[in-house]
Amino acid sequence: MNRPQFFLGAGALGTLAAFAAGSGSASAAGFEDVVGDLVTANRILAHENVVDAFGHVSARDPRDPARYLLSRSIAPALVTYADILTYTVAGDEALDAQGRPSYLERFIHGAIYRARPDVNAVVHSHTESVIPFGVSRVPLRPIYHMAAFLGGDVPVFEIRTVAGDATDLVIGSQPLGDALARTLGSGSVALMRGHGMVAVAGTVREAVFRAYYTGRDAVLESEALRLGDPVFLSPGEARAAAARQTGFVERSWDLWKRSLVP
Ligand code: MN
Repeated sequence: MNRPQFFLGAGALGTLAAFAAGSGSASAAGFEDVVGDLVTANRILAHENVVDAFGHVSARDPRDPARYLLSRSIAPALVTYADILTYTVAGDEALDAQGRPSYLERFIHGAIYRARPDVNAVVHSHTESVIPFGVSRVPLRPIYHMAAFLGGDVPVFEIRTVAGDATDLVIGSQPLGDALARTLGSGSVALMRGHGMVAVAGTVREAVFRAYYTGRDAVLESEALRLGDPVFLSPGEARAAAARQTGFVERSWDLWKRSLVP
């Protein structure tokens, strides 16, 4: 199957200098790196079918941990530097929207940054392969070493327990975001029943890695369950394999980035 191609155009790159110029802080270089990775992450997640027209990825602002960076409300494949807005972690309020609409589910991001000082990037997706594990009694677990970061049974957020059985399933408020963050706990991934998932990490690149391999793990676990009685990574294997994975992140990022049309 031919996959659609996504462009990291010169026009998008050209706006970065103007966008970053206002910061004037010592961490401006780090800021440019993070915004660059955030734009690239949007394109990669779309190209690799982790997100489609929906879903989003954010980064904590390296200039100010009380802020985070997230695109205005558009499909991830279309995100450029000019689309990245700055939000407050405390209020999920865009500081520089200038009339541009925010994602309905921006509250996912602020809630996780409030609850998890160790987290600097958040991916939210509706990746189809994980949906069955959010709606059945079969937990998503690490079936192979590439998903060792899952640790063990992935928690499932049930919106009915906090908001009843007539919601639209969307995380459209801070209380819902906070409840999702509680389900995530100290883990790297949480499923959302009948909706999707969140994947978090200390960097944008690792969050992309985790979101991608969570989806692949779900595909493989579904196939193994059809064969019957799969053997999962033990807690010790998951810990050891996860510790080795830091080196894998850059290799996959480089490949995925190069797969985008320059
Ligand atoms: Mn969603």
